[in-house]
Amino acid sequence: MQALISDLHSNTEALEAVLAEIRRLGISRILCLGDVIGYGPEPRETLLRVMAVCEWSLLGNHEHGCMQYASDFNPKARAAIDWTREQLNRRDKPRDENFRFWTYLDGMKKEVREGAVLYVHGSPRDPVKEYVVPKDAEDRAKMQDCFAQMGDARVCFVGHSHVPGVYPESGGFLTPSALPDGWSIERERAIVNIGSVGQPRDGDPRASFVAFDGKTVRFHRVAYDFGATMRKIRAVPQLPEYLAERLAAGR
Ligand code: ZN
Repeated sequence: MQALISDLHSNTEALEAVLAEIRRLGISRILCLGDVIGYGPEPRETLLRVMAVCEWSLLGNHEHGCMQYASDFNPKARAAIDWTREQLNRRDKPRDENFRFWTYLDGMKKEVREGAVLYVHGSPRDPVKEYVVPKDAEDRAKMQDCFAQMGDARVCFVGHSHVPGVYPESGGFLTPSALPDGWSIERERAIVNIGSVGQPRDGDPRASFVAFDGKTVRFHRVAYDFGATMRKIRAVPQLPEYLAERLAAGR
């Protein structure tokens, strides 16, 4: 059994709530699909926790943006990325800890394949940056190309859009509420979005993650104290107000 988490976005309240639930379920293997940092108020704490508890984390677009000039982000997102980069370089913190952060980010893989399972942050054809969103279910050319890029994999786990659900190869999009018994990967090939821990965008503010036993994918939601995270965001002038507001709305 393994737990998959993604898009933590420097939100330690959401991460701790999810880790407590994963412990309660008795799952010890935790994998992360990227965007550990960006948007949120506690990049150092979140990254340290992931380095300690996850077997690995993939490279997300926010880690990628943090390691180079984030030219393809809008100005507000870039302000948050620039602030995050400064936080990871703080001179009042141990130098070896800063060094460990950058070494960890630099070692993040863009994709991992394990047998019939492919893990990426974005999409099978552009693992770091491309979004797969519910309206893409109607874009047959895009979806066919994504499935072709999966090779022999039966399932591809993704994050990035912050909208959990299943895209079966035959078409459509299934929300977690349409799958009370989970999704069996034996049904057909699928791309599975595991949702976001630290900034959900499907209208439900609770943190999202999945549990996977090699056959069935189960979606989980965990309530957390987003009010505490909102207060921390508002205490950082470089982080725009909408990054706080959206946590309460789950948008
Ligand atoms: Zn993200």
